[in-house]
Parts: sequence; structure tokens; C-alpha cells
Amino acid sequence: MSRHTNFDLKKFNSWRLDAFGQNVLLPDTYHELKKWIKEYKTLGLWLGLGSNVLLPKIVKTPIVITQKTLKSFESLSDNKIYAQCGASCAQVSKLCCKLGYENAAFLAGIPGTIGGALAMNAGAFGGETWDNIVGVDVIDDNGHIYHLRKDQFSPSYRHLHSIFNVRFLAAYFQFKKGCSDKASNYLKNCISKRNQTQPIGTFNCGSVFKNPYPKYAAQLIESCGLKGLKSNHAVINELHANFILNEGNASYDDMISLIQTIQKTILDQKNVLLETEVIIVE
Ligand SMILES: Cc1cc2nc3c(=O)[nH]c(=O)nc-3n(C[C@H](O)[C@H](O)[C@H](O)COP(=O)(O)OP(=O)(O)OC[C@H]3O[C@@H](n4cnc5c(N)ncnc54)[C@H](O)[C@@H]3O)c2cc1C
Repeated sequence: MSRHTNFDLKKFNSWRLDAFGQNVLLPDTYHELKKWIKEYKTLGLWLGLGSNVLLPKIVKTPIVITQKTLKSFESLSDNKIYAQCGASCAQVSKLCCKLGYENAAFLAGIPGTIGGALAMNAGAFGGETWDNIVGVDVIDDNGHIYHLRKDQFSPSYRHLHSIFNVRFLAAYFQFKKGCSDKASNYLKNCISKRNQTQPIGTFNCGSVFKNPYPKYAAQLIESCGLKGLKSNHAVINELHANFILNEGNASYDDMISLIQTIQKTILDQKNVLLETEVIIVE
């Protein structure tokens, strides 16, 4: 286990904002994690790849837990897949597609971990993470580890409702077996569509706002002429208007300012309140 104070979290958020965690834990095993949570009596802030979080310069949460090292995954019997919270969605998707699980192809382009995908009910191209979940292993704030069934959660669009105050340690997926060639083609299509529509190779957090059904946030932002708008080094992307890029040295305040400007403009001009998809940590 490694435990750090005043730990640099720049590489733990895909916006690459300057951020420091006062107590940061990188557990290698569930046993270490249990010990730490029992000691602090709190679950703290969990980070996967930080691809959907806006972190302040000083993260005040008593502990930050990163799950990068808890990343194993494997195929089980009955078309099931076991994946620890820190496993990458892309790698799990690749294995699933090799096994002919076509419904896992959408996960390929989501640049996060399985833990983050469960918490966000991440989805794309008509698929959502919880569609194929049968159960999850979780930890609570007493450090107890147990298994919960899918029907003990209520997933919806980029949201997960639960009566349990827990964090995810692992997911059990079950898929319908299809054709591995077809699955691999779906996977390639998902990646290629992203490459055409998203600013690849930039520092961003994906879509900043949820789509206000039946409208699309990007279309609303574009139609109000906001593409290219800047707040210092934070800029609304020209290719995908629901993406805000860090062009260099953007700060938390730059991001907040741009987010608020977009929300106010869309409310004033379109009478729609855009809800953020990105998790804003205060
Ligand atoms: C280029 C780009 C494209 C993207 N495209 C999509 C897309 O198509 N669809 C989509 O849905 N999202 C997309 N995203 C957003 C993001 O990748 C997903 O939300 C992803 O699931 C977040 O995973 P993460 O591991 O990075 O989580 P983080 O960003 O680290 O965390 C997100 C939230 O989950 C919580 N969390 C993390 N791990 C756990 C855990 N083990 N237990 C409980 N809570 C946990 C965190 O505390 C936080 O609240 C995109 C992001 C980028 C940068």
C-alpha cells in the first residue's frame, strides 16, 4: 500500500488541472483498503481515471482513494465477466468482444475504469454499463465488504440511485453470446465514430453536460454561438460543443466560470437548464 500526503493529482484527472490531495491512498489489495477505511471511518473520494471529475486545487475530502492498482479482470462460466473497479473499460471491452459479447463493444471508447462506469452508469451508442450487470462487490464506511444484486440499484441516464452508502470494488457482467467478428467490428466502429466527432489528444472530460432529452447539449451550445468561447485557458471546443478543453494552464475557476456562462446562456435563450454530467468536487 502506498499512502501519500499532499499528493499531486494532476495525472489523476483527464482535464490535467492542478490538484492536490491531502491524504491519498493507492491500495494494492482489498485488505489494505479495508484497513484504511476502518481507520478513517469514511469512504472518501474515489478516483478511477478521473475522466469525469472537476477537482479543486486542494481536495479537502479527508481521503482520496485511487483504484488504479485494483485492475484485474477475467472471464467466468455462463458468459460472465468479473472486473475489479480499477480495470479499464477499454480492456474489459476488448476481452468481451473477443468472446463474442457484442453488447460490450460500446465500453471500448469510454476512457475510464469499471468503478467509474458503474458510478456514472456510463454509456454510449445505445448501451449502458448497468444493462449487463448481474451483481457488484462493494465496501461500506465500516470497511465491510459484501455482494449486492443488480436489482438493489436503480440506474438511469448517467446516474445511479442506491440506498447503500458504498463504493464499488468489482462488477459481475453477464452477456448474451454472439459473434466475435461482429463484436470486434462494433468495437472498431465505436472508436472510429469517436475519432471523427471528438477532439482526440486534448485534455477534456468528455461531455460536460447531460443531454436534456430529447435535445442534445452540444446542439444547444452550438446554436447559441458559444463554440470557441474562452475563460482564460478553458475553451469550448469547435468540433464538439459539449466538450471544454484545457488549452494549457486552465484552473478550476476557469472551468466553473465557463460552465456557468453556458448554463445561463442556454437558460436565457432556450429555456433549458443544462445539468452537469461531470462531477464537480468542492
Ligand atoms: C474523451 C472522453 C470521452 C468520454 N465519453 C464518454 C461516453 O461516451 N459515455 C460516458 O458515459 N462517459 C464518457 N466520458 C466520461 C467518463 O469517461 C465516464 O464517466 C467514466 O465512466 C468515468 O470513469 P473514471 O474511472 O474516469 O471515473 P472518475 O472520473 O475517476 O470518477 C467519476 C465518478 O465516479 C466515482 N467513482 C469512481 N470509482 C468509483 C468506485 N469504485 N465506486 C464508487 N464510485 C466511484 C467518483 O468518485 C466520481 O464521482 C468520456 C470522458 C472523456 C474524457
